[in-house]
Amino acid sequence: MIAVLKKEATEGQIRNLVGWFEKQGLRVNESKGEYCTVLGLIGDTTAIDIDLLSGLDIIESVTRISDPFKKANRKFHPEDTVVDVGGVKIGGGNFAVMAGPCSVESEEQIIETAKAVKAAGATLLRGGAFKPRTSPYDFQGMKEEGIELLKKAREATGLPIVTEIMGAEQLPLFDDIDCLQVGARNMQNFELLKALGKTDKPILLKRGLSATMKELLMSAEYIMAEGNPNVILCERGIRTYETYTRNTFDLSAIPMLKELTHLPIVADPSHATGRASLIKPMAMAATVSGADGLEIEVHPCPSKARSDGAQSLTFEQFEDVSKAIAKARSII
Ligand code: PEP
Ligand code: MN
Repeated sequence: MIAVLKKEATEGQIRNLVGWFEKQGLRVNESKGEYCTVLGLIGDTTAIDIDLLSGLDIIESVTRISDPFKKANRKFHPEDTVVDVGGVKIGGGNFAVMAGPCSVESEEQIIETAKAVKAAGATLLRGGAFKPRTSPYDFQGMKEEGIELLKKAREATGLPIVTEIMGAEQLPLFDDIDCLQVGARNMQNFELLKALGKTDKPILLKRGLSATMKELLMSAEYIMAEGNPNVILCERGIRTYETYTRNTFDLSAIPMLKELTHLPIVADPSHATGRASLIKPMAMAATVSGADGLEIEVHPCPSKARSDGAQSLTFEQFEDVSKAIAKARSII
């Protein structure tokens, strides 16, 4: 249920009302906007008399919300959430470009890439240290060493880092990481989501391989329900019957999610298409569709990449895509 308060409601009246809701066993999510305050009530609201509540002086309107996601719901929090990733803001008009290799492979590779993507306009460095691979025989990432190399690349360039966490037990290793990515394969690893919810780290939550938007939002809710509001959603394509592309980029998910949630939404055209040649048009399409940022794989020599080479851009290609993104941004 949400209760929209009148503009003239005083702080004392708001506190009284919040206290009363809490006494009824409800949790209250308070969102103060420029024009009004919205109280999102979480819990069993069946005993609340809507007519009685609507009749209070300070109440503008009361609505029951049937969506199962509450904290992530735009109705609960009409204004865009802005997430700060190591000083770089995402959401609410702030656009971020996360770029870098699929996997961290060596000190030289990650530092060279970090410098190149920064020079081309990236605002965050991505790179996988722990890699979720379909085959156990494929490169699994440099793990702890990869994390240390990412920190060195951050030191060398000033770019905050985004890297994937695969299990709650890895959390101590991510203490000094700016943004923790939850990969598509872990979108419903609920124990991991709950553990991340107990931190205050920005979390980049990727849509599962066959997940609906509602399931993605429910996974965000797992993190938020534990107290961490810093969730960024990522559309990275879903599995369909199509085989020319690695996945099917669900472009309409961007404006749809924007309607449903206040959380920032990043698009990942690299995993969505699996093809370097499709990154530029899809990055532009995602940008004009309202994405708050992009995640793009870049490698010094894609043909030698230890993972996802076919979808990785060269430095030169990334520079070109970066210019195209800026052009796309200028028309919206
Ligand atoms: C990645 O970002 O390299 C990755 C593995 O992405 P996803 O979880 O979307 O497949
Ligand atoms: Mn990858």
